[in-house]
Amino acid sequence: MKFSLYLGRYSGIKVFIHWTFSLLLFWIVIANTRSGTPLAETGWTLLFIILIFLCVILHEFGHALTAQKFGIQTRDIILLPIGGLARLEKLPDDPKEELKVALAGPLVNLVIFFILLLILFFKGFDFYMEEAPALNGSTIWLYLASANFFLAVFNLLPAFPMDGGRVLRALLTLRMSRVKATEIAGATGQAMAILFVFFGLFNNPVLVLIGIFIFLGAQAEVNQTKQHSLLSGFTVEDALMSKFPVLAFDAPLQKAVEKLLDGQATHFVVVRDDQPIGTLSREGIVQGLHGQNAQVSIEDVTDKDPLKLEMATALEEALKNMSRQNKKVALVYEGHHFVGILDQENISEFIMVKDALAR
Ligand SMILES: [Zn+2]
Repeated sequence: MKFSLYLGRYSGIKVFIHWTFSLLLFWIVIANTRSGTPLAETGWTLLFIILIFLCVILHEFGHALTAQKFGIQTRDIILLPIGGLARLEKLPDDPKEELKVALAGPLVNLVIFFILLLILFFKGFDFYMEEAPALNGSTIWLYLASANFFLAVFNLLPAFPMDGGRVLRALLTLRMSRVKATEIAGATGQAMAILFVFFGLFNNPVLVLIGIFIFLGAQAEVNQTKQHSLLSGFTVEDALMSKFPVLAFDAPLQKAVEKLLDGQATHFVVVRDDQPIGTLSREGIVQGLHGQNAQVSIEDVTDKDPLKLEMATALEEALKNMSRQNKKVALVYEGHHFVGILDQENISEFIMVKDALAR
């Protein structure tokens, strides 16, 4: 994780804290100094924030360790000023497992809440007070208990992809398809997100940020779930383009420009003796032209380290590889035999066709 401080690891899961977190602490110091808050109270506030985020880490471990029980690893846990994020390698497909993973986080906060209340109770803490007490060494635990209760309740709001939204999705999946369930949970999440933004504008800017994250996150996950369901069961062979434009490696770049302007093709296979040596995309051609050397040959601008895929590879896996390696086009082989190409636009068309047929 870029721009993050490594805090440590537990059960093979690394914990990072994002640098923007320091802005939050800095902002508290500035705000408190300007409002003339005593230094001791600012100190308690900082400690309080750090303790809350410690509880957030425990919350994320609730998710991560439960997922681990179902054989799903967690890449890492990252702490942002607006909350924590356990980046699971994948989500459980079984709705009952998803339900348990989603509930485990808020459950951790509820457990902390009850433990703190019990400790306060046995220490003879006086719970009856007229107004909110100042934050100090004896009240900090009461504040921390309340914060944990708030964290549990807030996370359980049905704002997909927050925990409560995942609970909703899992429950819906028991009665309908995962795609339909995700669409309903996603729409509910986006409606909640708009409420957060609206409420946050008048009360709390952090809530505005959270609202925006939820809104975008819900959309992304609905699309991803749809794509997953539409692509599953298909292989590279199903979306293969066996007709594709070729360019000779020793032709001048001008030849590629002509072919680009002449037809609809945006990706080319560069060949030497009928064997592909790489690919050339529209972007590559334009970049080559920026070099302003008219004598440049096609070989000079060819991507000679193309992504190679097997016919039998799952289509979803292929698409993941393409976006991970930032390749718009891949060469497809059957054994050692070159059979065609696969490009991202063609996969998008494939998804659109399947989506239309599914309706
Ligand atoms: Zn959570």
